[in-house]
Amino acid sequence: MKHNLKTHPDKVGTNSEPLIGAHESIAGGIHKAFERAESVGCRVLQVFTKNSNQWSAKPLTDEDIANYKTTASKSSIKHVIAHDSYLINLCAKDRSILRKSREALLDELNRCEMLGIKYLNFHPGSHMGAGEKEGIRMIVDSLSWVHQQANGYQVKSVLETTAGQGSAVGHRFEHLREIIDGVDEPERMAVCIDTCHIFAAGYDIRTEEVYERTMKEFDDIVGLERLVAFHVNDSKKPLGSRVDRHEHIGNGAIGEIGFRCLMLDTRVQEIPKILETPKGKDLKEDRMNLRILEKLAKT
Ligand code: ZN
Ligand code: MN
Ligand code: MN
Repeated sequence: MKHNLKTHPDKVGTNSEPLIGAHESIAGGIHKAFERAESVGCRVLQVFTKNSNQWSAKPLTDEDIANYKTTASKSSIKHVIAHDSYLINLCAKDRSILRKSREALLDELNRCEMLGIKYLNFHPGSHMGAGEKEGIRMIVDSLSWVHQQANGYQVKSVLETTAGQGSAVGHRFEHLREIIDGVDEPERMAVCIDTCHIFAAGYDIRTEEVYERTMKEFDDIVGLERLVAFHVNDSKKPLGSRVDRHEHIGNGAIGEIGFRCLMLDTRVQEIPKILETPKGKDLKEDRMNLRILEKLAKT
C-alpha cells in the first residue's frame, strides 16, 4: 500500500509536512531511488551515486544522466543529497589509499555535478593512529586539492559529524570548524548532523534542556548557517560510547523525546532530515519511522 505524507487538515504551519525522507537503494539505476522514496512517502532523498563498496565505477552515461534528470523533474521529491563511498579516507596514512580517496571524492563530486545534485555528504576520515591534529591537517589538504580540481562546481562538500568510532575524526564540532577554516574555498563547505553519531560521540539530545545545549554548542562552534541536512537515526549504543549503530526512531538510547525536540525546532524546520535506519526489501521500516517522525512533528 502506498503511504503518502499528507497535510493534516487543521494544521496550517509549515511543520505540517516536515522535510523528512530516507536513504534509498539505487539498484537498477540511480533514478530508481525516486520510486522507492516516493512509495514510502519521502519528501527528501539520499542516494549513493555508485556502488559504495567499490573504488571505481563506470562513468555515468548520457542515458543515465537523462534518466535521472527526467525522473527527478517529475518527482515530488525536490531535495536530493548524495552520500560518498565508505572506502574513501581523506586522511589515510597509506599514501596510495590517500591518493585513491582524493580521486574517488573528486569522481563523486563530478557525478553529483553531472546529475545536478547539490550536496555530497561524506565522513571527514580516520587518522589511523596519526592523531586528530594530523588527521585534520590531511583532510584539509585533501579537500583543498579536490576543490582545486573541481573548479567552479556548484555541488557543496558536506562534512558529516561522526561517532568517533576507531580513529574517526569529526566527533567534536571543533574538528568540523577546523576543517572548514583550513580548506581553500570554505564557502563550498557545509555540514550534516547525524543524530546517532553525535549522541554516540557524547552530545546528549534526550531532553529539551540537553537538546538545546547541544544545538547551541553546534551553532556557537560550527554555525547553523552551515547545516544542510540531518541524518535522523536513533542509537543502539549509549551516550558517549563512540560506537556507530543505528536504531529505529524511538527504539534506541536517544528515544522519542529527543526526536520530538528536533522535529519541533523551528530553526531547522527547512533542513532535510534523512533516515539511515535498518530496513528490509519492502521498506516497511521506512514507512514506520517516517510515520513516527511525522507524529512527533505534530505534538
Ligand atoms: Zn555517513
Ligand atoms: Mn549518517
Ligand atoms: Mn553511522
